[in-house]
Amino acid sequence: MALFSSSETTIFNKYEVGKLLGCGAFAKVYHARDIKDGRSVAIKIINKTRVSNAILMANIKREISIMRLLRHPHIVKLDEVLATKTKIYFVMEFVKGGELFAKIAKAGKFSEDQSRKIFQQLISAVRYCHSRGVYHRDLKPENLLIDENGDLKVSDFGLSALTEQAQQDGLLHTLCGTPSYVAPDVLTKKGYDGAKADIWTCGIILFVLNAGYLPFHDSNLMGMYHKIINGEYKCPKWMSSELKRFLRRILDTNPMTRITIEEIMNDPWFKKGLKRVKFCEEDGKPHRRIQNSDSIGQDEPSAEIEEVK
Ligand code: ATP
Repeated sequence: MALFSSSETTIFNKYEVGKLLGCGAFAKVYHARDIKDGRSVAIKIINKTRVSNAILMANIKREISIMRLLRHPHIVKLDEVLATKTKIYFVMEFVKGGELFAKIAKAGKFSEDQSRKIFQQLISAVRYCHSRGVYHRDLKPENLLIDENGDLKVSDFGLSALTEQAQQDGLLHTLCGTPSYVAPDVLTKKGYDGAKADIWTCGIILFVLNAGYLPFHDSNLMGMYHKIINGEYKCPKWMSSELKRFLRRILDTNPMTRITIEEIMNDPWFKKGLKRVKFCEEDGKPHRRIQNSDSIGQDEPSAEIEEVK
């Protein structure tokens, strides 16, 4: 069954739908054009009939709430959400260059300088998310888009969590993410700090950028988990000793001693050539805190999806 009929070439008389950009488990993402001003957008279309249970719908609402909160030059911006009885449309800024994954696959590997630039932008976005109580939980090159200037945009907040979702022990307990990128503290199922888990995943991405392959791999999933939990990986010979040392601090299997975002920002390898980019929100207003009256409850995401008939 088609996700949506091919006759649907315009949405609410506002957007003209173009080519398919990518597919996820429950959604398809299309390039589209704003009919009013010709601006390019990306529209993620979710077929509600495929979202069979309440937990999945709650996750979609949480994704919307979180994306509405985030305004950062290295995070994909959500413009608006539209819905009918059967579909939900996420209208987002269009990121022209495609996935970082494809760029690495094409190049084989990135130089240390190229890797550093992407990593600095990733850390800037992740630091911003954490400061707002948002943990992405599925960072990987497939969810990192590259714009026409070669700059990074973090996307797909479908598995992201909020500080408020932590249990009484102050930790998150949902096992989620992508096996090769997941932190040992997530795998051990004793509860984890979302910030520490995201930092580990950023370390895997940094390794992949400069090595061109994953640090932990095995033909068998349990074998790979064993290596992750024991921190068994080898750096390629071309990697500088500074980068190896930095990676050892990030890929520390103990979340208590693992490097923090602030320590990353002060690391000599990281700081090299760093341009601090100041940004302001488009509306000129201060960021909405997650804890205010619009707060998003643990089990009750607050996003309102306006239905347009
Ligand atoms: P998954 O099931 O992997 O979580 P998803 O259904 O949440 O996927 P996304 O990962 O958000 O969907 O998007 C799928 C693909 O569509 C992306 O990998 C990317 O190639 C493309 N895409 C998503 N958002 C944009 C955007 N704003 N601009 C350009 N391309 C995009």
